[in-house]
Amino acid sequence: MRVVGLTGGIGSGKSAVSALLAAHGAAVVDADEIAREVVAPGGPAYEPLVARFGPGILAEDGTIDRPALAAAAFGDPAAVADLNAITHPAIGLVMAERLVALAARGDVAVAVAVIPLLARRHVEGLGLAAVVVVDCPTEVAVERLVRLRGMPEADARARLAAQASRQERLALADYVVDNSGSPEELAARVDALWAWLRGLEGDG
Ligand code: ADP
Repeated sequence: MRVVGLTGGIGSGKSAVSALLAAHGAAVVDADEIAREVVAPGGPAYEPLVARFGPGILAEDGTIDRPALAAAAFGDPAAVADLNAITHPAIGLVMAERLVALAARGDVAVAVAVIPLLARRHVEGLGLAAVVVVDCPTEVAVERLVRLRGMPEADARARLAAQASRQERLALADYVVDNSGSPEELAARVDALWAWLRGLEGDG
């Protein structure tokens, strides 16, 4: 089984590409989904977060209120560092476990690890065979986030600005999927990506 990393800025089309790859037969492991699991009650990051940030981050039902947590850490570099130090290793561990379990199945040729903030350390840590970057112009991403996800434009711009730049991401890429066109064009580009990934995989 080959594991490839899939990354891209918010609104670039990571979810769209991973859904198309799943339709081709790839197994998909999504860091955003795992991030929600690890902070759920009983998850490995739940207790440490409550201990660090206090009961003010909890909703009435005892779950962590993610906007409250974000607000508690916002603008305080030490708090952000603590938040990351609690959540990132937990997410990495669960992701590695999922990939080991997929490899053990023996019938998965390509696993796709969707990692919004993919960095070079993930390449070694997860044994990524390649990094695939989904790319589109910032203005296209903003337009889609506003029109299709109902995000206020200022939020979309702020979130894009807080992430790695397009250039930083592209520097990590072994393969770039251009998602500046229509959904049909994207599907054709993912067909080509799938052929490339199958070739990378090497055993048919
Ligand atoms: P990400 O997961 O990278 O944040 P998404 O895959 O959710 O991005 O894409 C952002 C939004 O744009 C979604 O609503 C998605 O359906 C839409 N979208 C993605 N690719 C295209 C495209 N080529 N044309 C039009 N809309 C698209």
